[in-house]
Amino acid sequence: MASWQAAAQKASTDPSTHFDAIIIGAGVSGLYQLYKLRELGLKVLVFETGTGVGGTWYWNRYPGARFDSESYTYGYSFSPELLEEWDWAERFAPQPETERYLNHVADRFDLRRDIQFRSRVAAAHYQEETRSWDVMLEDGRRYCTRLLITAIGVLSAPTMPRIAGVDTFEGQSCHTHYWPKEGVSFDGKRVAVIGTGATAVQTIQEVAKTAGQLTVFQRTPQWCAPLHNDRIGADEMRRIRAGYPEIFARCGDTPGCFIHAPDPRATHEVTQQEREAFWEKLYAEPGFGIWQGNFRDILVDREANALVSDFIARKIRQRVKDPAVADKLIPKNHGFGTRRVPLETRYYEVYNQPNVTLVDINETPIERITPSGVKTSDAEYEFDLIIYATGFDAITGSFDRIDIRGVDGCRLKDKWKSGPQTFLGILVEGFPNMLMVMGPHAGLGNFPRAAEYSVDWVTGLVRHAHDRGLTRIEPTSAGVAEWTSHVMAMGEGLLMNEIDSWMTGVNRNVEGKETRKIMRYSGGHPAFREHCDAVAADGYRKLSLA
Ligand SMILES: Cc1cc2nc3c(=O)[nH]c(=O)nc-3n(C[C@H](O)[C@H](O)[C@H](O)COP(=O)(O)OP(=O)(O)OC[C@H]3O[C@@H](n4cnc5c(N)ncnc54)[C@H](O)[C@@H]3O)c2cc1C
Repeated sequence: MASWQAAAQKASTDPSTHFDAIIIGAGVSGLYQLYKLRELGLKVLVFETGTGVGGTWYWNRYPGARFDSESYTYGYSFSPELLEEWDWAERFAPQPETERYLNHVADRFDLRRDIQFRSRVAAAHYQEETRSWDVMLEDGRRYCTRLLITAIGVLSAPTMPRIAGVDTFEGQSCHTHYWPKEGVSFDGKRVAVIGTGATAVQTIQEVAKTAGQLTVFQRTPQWCAPLHNDRIGADEMRRIRAGYPEIFARCGDTPGCFIHAPDPRATHEVTQQEREAFWEKLYAEPGFGIWQGNFRDILVDREANALVSDFIARKIRQRVKDPAVADKLIPKNHGFGTRRVPLETRYYEVYNQPNVTLVDINETPIERITPSGVKTSDAEYEFDLIIYATGFDAITGSFDRIDIRGVDGCRLKDKWKSGPQTFLGILVEGFPNMLMVMGPHAGLGNFPRAAEYSVDWVTGLVRHAHDRGLTRIEPTSAGVAEWTSHVMAMGEGLLMNEIDSWMTGVNRNVEGKETRKIMRYSGGHPAFREHCDAVAADGYRKLSLA
């Protein structure tokens, strides 16, 4: 232990700036990683841009922000005491409840003493002589660490639209990610929402309740499905608590770590009547069942996908009174489930309200934001408030915003220019001692289930290195090539990978993110874990350790 730390401390004599591990990010991933590294007795520090813990659930305070995962499948599973004492109030918890939960976790495990808030990491440079990382904060503070652990989130680098005049608007405007803590009133106001992704859907259905006039600017309609949220009463919570082992085991068995497992049948193996009945049942059930628990082929078989898309399109037509508006709300350029499915509560009915207007910006593009509102190709709209629900530079965006340089000053951003290359989504060749919790080319899904595994695996590797006095951890070229080609192979044939979306790394508001890439592992979590477990069981011989 002493020799492991000493190497990191050679470069300076100030112990207050030298750490065994620096973790970036205090969301679900960073908090658990801190907890686990403390168990190893390491000297750990977390840097977090925000002023509190929670990551996604600290930042996204927009009206209607809530889980699409069932709350009780989302909480941490690592502590029986935590499971015992925490009651979820809603089936799909709203942002304040989840933020409270993550604050409770931070307090319960006394995590805050090792977290520095208001501390954005601007740069991290690897130093070969000391096998350590120099970490620079935006405000100029500098630190040194043996291990650099990124827990910076897949949806944490918000993007504004590339529309002229954004800075000229004289009313109030905000991005959903940076929603003001004190809240925003919509009472009687003229409100614009730009964007119609999952966040926008949650925002729109809430704003429409009180806004004087709501105008939604839509570029890409989404296939939304009902959330069916409800309160969780004391009896139900007791049942959930008693069932936690089965709940977590079931999540562990599904490809996306959700409670919903794909139906083993193919769409064409059943009659049309059976299909319709099955889809009606899924549509009436809470959560992602209609997406994650559907026939096994809806995301790989074009015909199957067309049938389920047609089913959802009929639902939209039934729910939206004006057929022309309904038609605009039905996606034409992608099939159901090939983008992240937003779950909604009376979203489609919003468009039946007299105070709501839908503007299709493919027909009438936005030309600019003006001091008083929005100018499209055929009209000028005046607003009191503009809400930008324009999403994130996903998966690699938060990496791109840090100047990360590895061996010989190589920039991570350059290395990943044509797409991420990793070993297990955790390690990058040429960036020794950098470990990514839920990095690109790991599997996405019900996040904490996957993140807990990722943290545990990282912790196992750190323990292995630490126990043996190894101070340099790097993947091999062969290992990275093997994993990258496996990730590519797993992505073949998936309809999702033929569609522009944040899941395929496309964001038209970010330069260089115009073309599709394989950004995540799509072989499913059970297979992902098998790969990672095999590497650990083999004594990490696939890595270069020194
Ligand atoms: C609106 C919304 C709804 C979602 N709903 C669900 C859901 O229902 N189910 C689900 O499974 N997932 C959902 N997600 C995904 C969600 O991001 C994950 O569930 C999870 O919260 C990610 O945790 P994390 O700790 O890995 O990252 P994050 O929660 O994103 O935390 C990363 C933290 O790192 C900090 N950070 C980043 N860069 C730096 C830097 N350079 N210096 C210092 N700090 C930095 C950020 O400030 C942030 O606090 C949702 C995401 C969004 C945006």
